[in-house]
Amino acid sequence: MIRRRRRLSVESIVFLAIIVFVLLAVIYPAVTVLIRHEQKSLEEIEIEIEQEKYVNVYIDGGVIEMPLEEYLVGVVAAEMPASYELEALKAQAVAARTYTLYKMNNGGCAAHEGADICTDSGHCQAYMTEEEMADFWGDDAGLYLEKIQTAVASTSGEVLYYKGEEIQVFYHACSGGQTENCENVYSQVLPYLVSVQSEGEEAYSNFYGEVAVSFKDFKSKMEAYSPSIDIDDVASCIEEIVRYESGRVESIEIGGEAFTGREIRGVFSLNSANFTIDISGDTITFNTVGYGHGVGMSQSGANAMAKGGASYVDILTHYYTGVTIE
Ligand SMILES: [Zn+2]
Repeated sequence: MIRRRRRLSVESIVFLAIIVFVLLAVIYPAVTVLIRHEQKSLEEIEIEIEQEKYVNVYIDGGVIEMPLEEYLVGVVAAEMPASYELEALKAQAVAARTYTLYKMNNGGCAAHEGADICTDSGHCQAYMTEEEMADFWGDDAGLYLEKIQTAVASTSGEVLYYKGEEIQVFYHACSGGQTENCENVYSQVLPYLVSVQSEGEEAYSNFYGEVAVSFKDFKSKMEAYSPSIDIDDVASCIEEIVRYESGRVESIEIGGEAFTGREIRGVFSLNSANFTIDISGDTITFNTVGYGHGVGMSQSGANAMAKGGASYVDILTHYYTGVTIE
């Protein structure tokens, strides 16, 4: 028994020696390579994190710092219908990124201290949280979120420049067929915000709009806006209308006073400043074409271009004249 045990022990030692050799010769170098590979990946990730931009967003009464690209998903979700074509959503992502960087580099949101941007669409840029998206989209939430994440990720870091500087971005829902020169709306000449044709927008639900008011309401609203106005009767209260080339009203004379089309748009909450007026009996009806201020990219026009096979680059360089995407 003793001899047998001793013989087995020798065999075991040889076997163990082979295992140790295999471990040292094969497995250890492999593990070392794996560890090195892992370390390299971590370094790469660290570099990526360093390069990632953050934005201070004023939301729900406080300022939150969030990764720019993550913030942009919420902006695209809030600013453009998710049912639009992917190339249109990609154009929107680049426009929103450019708008945000311009804000960050030019003093941030003037209404909220410490914020680069706020989520008030009337002041800075609209934004939706993922919970709001889930409520808003219902059953389509998963599909739409993935679509918008794709639009943002596939254009990651891309910004619109004019002569080496990021541009001031404007966009609107529907131009009514032709966008507007910036100076006709915001009294600032910007060479990349000039009037261009925008075809195929008729599918947009608010391409045409209508607002009807009684003469009594018309008179009281205009008097509230301009107390010195003198409106006598429905037939003679509206005088000369002058239009821009795009069709939008440049000026209109009412009760002996001149107003801009934008002012009248505001007083009567019209969809756009591109309107005609019909007077029938005691009723004054504004018929509008398009939706929004008309400057820069038309979102419904972008969708129409994408349906026709245009890329987001085609869309952006159509609506923002002379820009580069970098
Ligand atoms: Zn703001």
